[in-house]
Amino acid sequence: MAAQREWFEKNYYEILGVSAEASQKEITRAYRKLARESHPDANPGDTQAEERFKEISAAYDVVGDAAKRKEYDEVRTLGPMGGFGGPGGAGGGGGGFGPGGINLDFGSDGGLGDLLGGLFTRGTTARGNRGSAKRRGADLETDLFLSFDDAFKGVTTTVHLTSEAVCHTCHGRGAKPGTTPRTCPRCHGRGVLDDNQGLFSFSQPCPECAGRGMLIDEPCPTCHGAGTERRPREVKARVPAGVSDGTRIRLKGRGEPGANGGPAGDLYLTVHVAPHEVFAMSGRNLTLTVPVTFPEAALGADLTVPTLDGDPVTVRLAPGTPNRRTLRVKGRGAATPKGTGDLLVTIEVAVPAKLSAAERKAVEALDAATTQSPRSHLDDLLTRHEEAEV
Ligand SMILES: [Zn+2]
Ligand SMILES: [Zn+2]
Repeated sequence: MAAQREWFEKNYYEILGVSAEASQKEITRAYRKLARESHPDANPGDTQAEERFKEISAAYDVVGDAAKRKEYDEVRTLGPMGGFGGPGGAGGGGGGFGPGGINLDFGSDGGLGDLLGGLFTRGTTARGNRGSAKRRGADLETDLFLSFDDAFKGVTTTVHLTSEAVCHTCHGRGAKPGTTPRTCPRCHGRGVLDDNQGLFSFSQPCPECAGRGMLIDEPCPTCHGAGTERRPREVKARVPAGVSDGTRIRLKGRGEPGANGGPAGDLYLTVHVAPHEVFAMSGRNLTLTVPVTFPEAALGADLTVPTLDGDPVTVRLAPGTPNRRTLRVKGRGAATPKGTGDLLVTIEVAVPAKLSAAERKAVEALDAATTQSPRSHLDDLLTRHEEAEV
């Protein structure tokens, strides 16, 4: 639903500078142009350009895909009153499903609150912030911007991010260097105290050490005992060849550090690939559209085309090759871990907008010499229509 709410608020056509009636081709063209202009590679350090690039990418993710675009158009015709509680929607805040779900807020006046408090502490080891139980670090997410070339060939790159990391002063122990945390005398390092309530026995976090099991007499001056600090980090990432735009790469254990010996979270990278001037990727295949003249398509020709992995290649056009025919050059696509793709060359017969006198003469001679109409299959239908008119 989150995506759909955004659909109401954002006019993706406006973002891409196209009309709502634009063809898929026009949308792609507009996207490529804007993405090239605002790509972070072209604007290093320009956060506004980066924001703009993300916005353009998000817009193209939806309206660049014919099926998603249809859905988007439909959702938008519903208007903001369409039941998602968009801006100006019914109710205006308050009830419903808050993002945090149920909030239990017990007082700390003994009795039930404390009883349940003990239970909950036990039950929320994954997220509890005090428990001495091992806690896994949070997953992190960041964007990775790649040039088309790097995405095609694969690259080992460095991701810069600011996040919680193990404190560099105390290496996560929380104690001032040269001092040692001591075992809590009240809970003997367990972090919890047993509390007998008749038939039941509940465990509560130890108030002496706040559930850590250890007492720090002299906290680390950098992290004040937390064991972690916010700081810029560099993470090396190996990106395989042939990675496509929008891919999420998971780097296990490179998220935030865990607590009390718990494992670190993961780091997710969302890959953004800058569009190329002429090439595009289709899975592991590299695609290229090559304009040819009508004589080349009709008579046959050898075309020399560029590749991304080395020398140009020559593709042979057979005489009478139809427009939009795709020729395959084996093994010149991306060398992905799952195999190497091909280069797919699609030819497009170019029609000159202007003719020189000599060209005009030649084309007119061709026209005069042409005996077969390419539309002969329509003749039957045309005559039938004429007969009906009479
Ligand atoms: Zn520290
Ligand atoms: Zn304790």
